[in-house]
Amino acid sequence: MQTTPRGFVSGPKPCPHCGRVLQPLTADLNGREVFAGWEPCGCDGAAAARAEWEAERRRADEAASAASWERKLDASGIPPRFRDARHPWARRLAERIAAGDGLYLHGGNGTGKTTLACAAALICLRNGMSVRFAVATKLLDELREFGEAQRELLAALARCDLLVVDDLGKEGAATPRAAEKLFDLFNDRYNSQTLVHPRPFVVTSNFPRNEVAVRVSDGGSGVAIASRLRETTEAVLMDGDDWRIHGKN
Ligand SMILES: [Zn+2]
Repeated sequence: MQTTPRGFVSGPKPCPHCGRVLQPLTADLNGREVFAGWEPCGCDGAAAARAEWEAERRRADEAASAASWERKLDASGIPPRFRDARHPWARRLAERIAAGDGLYLHGGNGTGKTTLACAAALICLRNGMSVRFAVATKLLDELREFGEAQRELLAALARCDLLVVDDLGKEGAATPRAAEKLFDLFNDRYNSQTLVHPRPFVVTSNFPRNEVAVRVSDGGSGVAIASRLRETTEAVLMDGDDWRIHGKN
């Protein structure tokens, strides 16, 4: 150690690669002179060691960001087989979602509704939005019971930036109570959204919005859900290569 007018710093040391004597560097920290390592050596050995260290740090950063991406994917509930989903309309859909617009993707089996919904959701997730994906039949099944676990699930689904509900209206076992809870969820998101924090949904279904009601529930909740969806989503019929908007159904 060496005393300087403003503090203590380490003394010079030889480069471990070429032996040249390297002077200590200092930095000013709130008026105190603090040791900030030694001057970098220009020799090949030192340059190679720096490159190796940077490569190592880059690998560590990449591993950390891959792990954090995996965690986000797991938390989103996007099924593993859709975690690399791509679709030519995905970017456009993601832009609409980011602007706060909800979308109702309907069309027959094999038209790529879930692929499109997931591809857009992945873009939203990469852009920092929180995303939750729920399969409608599983969700309605889960909501047949109502306890602490379901309360937490609904709260999480209500809070996220984007909620994807897949395959709404598929033959399932929705009890009136479960359908009511699903309506509450849509309603919560609708009521809690603000201009600054929209809470859009993307819903996929084999059926247009005006037919989905009776399939979700015989009672009033199905009708209420369909009506909420008409207010909060734009219908996109997926039956070919075009982006066809069907506002009415
Ligand atoms: Zn050196």
